[in-house]
Amino acid sequence: MTPAILEITILGSGTSTGIPVIGCDCPVCSSTDPRNRRTRCSALLKWQGRNILIDTSPDLRLQALREKIRHIDAVLYTHSHADHMHGIDDLRSFNLHSGKPIPVYGSSGTMERVRNTFSYIFNELDQPGYIPQLNLYSVETPFELFDLRITPIPLYHGHLQVLGYRCGQIAYLTDCNLIPDSSLALLKDLELLVLDGLRFKPHKTHFNIEEAVAMAQKIGARQTWLTHLSHEVDHPRHDSQLPAGIHLAYDGQQFTSFLP
Ligand SMILES: [Zn+2]
Ligand SMILES: [Zn+2]
Ligand SMILES: [Zn+2]
Repeated sequence: MTPAILEITILGSGTSTGIPVIGCDCPVCSSTDPRNRRTRCSALLKWQGRNILIDTSPDLRLQALREKIRHIDAVLYTHSHADHMHGIDDLRSFNLHSGKPIPVYGSSGTMERVRNTFSYIFNELDQPGYIPQLNLYSVETPFELFDLRITPIPLYHGHLQVLGYRCGQIAYLTDCNLIPDSSLALLKDLELLVLDGLRFKPHKTHFNIEEAVAMAQKIGARQTWLTHLSHEVDHPRHDSQLPAGIHLAYDGQQFTSFLP
């Protein structure tokens, strides 16, 4: 039997401001290296012709145009912060093409925040007409999506519990500064780990690069890509300084994994 292909594309590798930061003239924000131009944090999983989007960043429209994404078959939410969710309205375009609602998955807390923050989508009295068609599902434990097993990975982002996701031998863990032992147990035998590594200075709710490298070495994936990067991080200068197997992510980066 030929192995099934699971592919991940980094749609956005940037922190909440995006890089360049509005009004900033620092060397990274002024850089012409495309790897230093970072849209807000998001990724796309491709599996058996299906596109599974992780988060709807405020840059979703630009990311979809850049990567020529013509359909979204499901959305996985990590958490409800604006930089991961506020592109939700752009899901309308995919509804228009498919004529179908999009299933959306996340923790019960995140699903509640979607309903409250974007009430115009769900309140029938308040609908302006052209709105996203979404079906929300709360997930806490592994589930099947298009015959692909998806394992939610509970993480801490400061006091907030968020979810990472594991599919096959790929795990995507953004916005975190603590991974409980029970979640580390779900992260064995990875080919690719995508991990939060905001910047060099410490931060209250994100791993900095030093902490992310230590965590990457503890998890021991064959490759780790650090994402959610700030303008402290200069790709050409800092990527080569990381230990073997650990890299800075960049927008458009892709990885292919083969499932038995
Ligand atoms: Zn974020
Ligand atoms: Zn800057
Ligand atoms: Zn966040």
